[in-house]
Amino acid sequence: MGSRTAALVERAERLFPGGVNSPVRAFRAVDRPPIVLQRGDGPFVWDADGRRFLDYIGAWGPAILGHACPTVIDAISAAAANGLALGATNPLEVELGEAIRAAMPSIERLRFTSSGTEAVMSALRAARAATGRELIVKFAGAYHGHADGVLVEAGSGLATQGIAGSAGVPDAVAALTIVLPYNDLGAVTLAFARHPGRISAVIVEPVVANAGVIAPAPGFLEHLREMTRAHGALLVFDEVITGFRLGRGGAQARFGVMPDLTTLGKIIGGGMPIGAYGGRADIMDLVAPAGPVYQAGTLSGHPLSMAAGIATLTELTPARYERIEETSSDLAAGLAEAAAAAGRHVAIAQVGPLLTVFFRPTMPANAADAFGSDRAAYGRFFGSMLDQGVLLPPSQFEAWFPSMAHGPAEVAATIAAARNAWAERAG
Ligand code: PMP
Repeated sequence: MGSRTAALVERAERLFPGGVNSPVRAFRAVDRPPIVLQRGDGPFVWDADGRRFLDYIGAWGPAILGHACPTVIDAISAAAANGLALGATNPLEVELGEAIRAAMPSIERLRFTSSGTEAVMSALRAARAATGRELIVKFAGAYHGHADGVLVEAGSGLATQGIAGSAGVPDAVAALTIVLPYNDLGAVTLAFARHPGRISAVIVEPVVANAGVIAPAPGFLEHLREMTRAHGALLVFDEVITGFRLGRGGAQARFGVMPDLTTLGKIIGGGMPIGAYGGRADIMDLVAPAGPVYQAGTLSGHPLSMAAGIATLTELTPARYERIEETSSDLAAGLAEAAAAAGRHVAIAQVGPLLTVFFRPTMPANAADAFGSDRAAYGRFFGSMLDQGVLLPPSQFEAWFPSMAHGPAEVAATIAAARNAWAERAG
C-alpha cells in the first residue's frame, strides 16, 4: 500500500466506524487493506497514490457510462450555477420524472427520494396503506437498503459478514417480514396459504445482485405476479440496481412482468444521491399531500441529482445498451474459458451488464447456494487481480458492474489478468 493511502486509511479508522462510511468499502471480505479512490475517468479509477485500476465496482451501479462522463459533469456544473437546493419544485424534477415514466410504463406517478433505502421504505409504507395489511415478503440474500423491516436475512455487506439481520432491529418489526428462498415458487404459494389476507407486498430484486448475481428461474417472476394479484397483495420490484442497467425499461421490460410499484436509485442520479419510487397512480396518490401516507425530504429532487440523471439517461442510447451487453457477454465467456483452461471450477452468472464469478462449481439458484461459495478463493483471486490493476468488487457476494466505457481492450486486459491469477493458483 502506498504511503498516502496508508495514512488516509489510518486517519479514517480513527474517524469512521471500521474506517468507512459504508461497510463494503472496508475490504474485510477479501482480507486486504482498503483502498482510497480519488479520481475516476471512463473505465478507470485512481487511488490516493496515483495508482490506476480498471474498475468493476462502478460506484456500485450508478457509473454505467464510466466515470466523469463529460456531458454529465457539464450538466451538474450548469445546474450548480443556478444555486443548489432551492426548496420548491424545480423544472429538472419534472424533466427527469417524465423521462423515467416514459421508459417504465408501470410507473404512472413517482416520487424522488435521496437514496434507494428511502425509496424502498416509502414504497413499502404505501403498499401497507393501500392494502391495509402489515406483512411483507422478501427473499433471502436480497438487499433492499438499511431500513429496519428489510434488514432481515439481508444480503450484500451483511452476507459477507455472516450476520443475519442487524442488531438494533426490533423483533416486533422483523416479525412483520417473511423471508423466503429466491426462485422457490412453492415457498411463495405456501406463504400466501399460511397468511391469508395478511401479506401486503412481495418485494423482490427481479435479478438478485446483492448475493452475487442470481437470475430468476423461468416463470418465477410471473409466479410472483400471479400470486400477488390472486391474493390482493402488491408486487414491488426493487430496481435500484437493475433499473436502466438491464436496458432502459429495467428488469420489468426485460422479463415482461409489470410490478405495481418500482423502486429506483443509482443510475437515475448519474452518480449523485438519489432514489425514487413509483407505480400505479391509485397507490401513489395515497402519498402526501395527495393522500394520507406521509413521506418527505429536504433534499429530494435535488437539482444536481436531477441534472446528472437527465444527462445520464440522454446518453443511454440503444446502441450503447447493445455494446454493454456484448462487452459483458464477451467478458463472461472469456473468464469462463480462462477458468476452464486453468482447471478451475467456477460458475459465471451473467444477466446483461451484471455478473459474478462464483467460486463454486454450479450456478446458484438462491442465496443459500451462493453463500456456499469459496470466499477464501475469491479473496485470493481479488488480491491477484488488484495487484494486476483490476479492481473487482471486494466481496464474493457483490455484482461486477462493467460500464459503457469498457471496450474490447478492457475485456482483454481483464481476461489476461484472470488467466494469470488462476495460473498462479490464486483463487
Ligand atoms: N435496493 C437495492 C437492490 C440495492 O442494491 C440498494 C443499494 N445497493 C438499495 C436498495 C439501497 O440503496 P441506497 O444505498 O441508495 O440506500
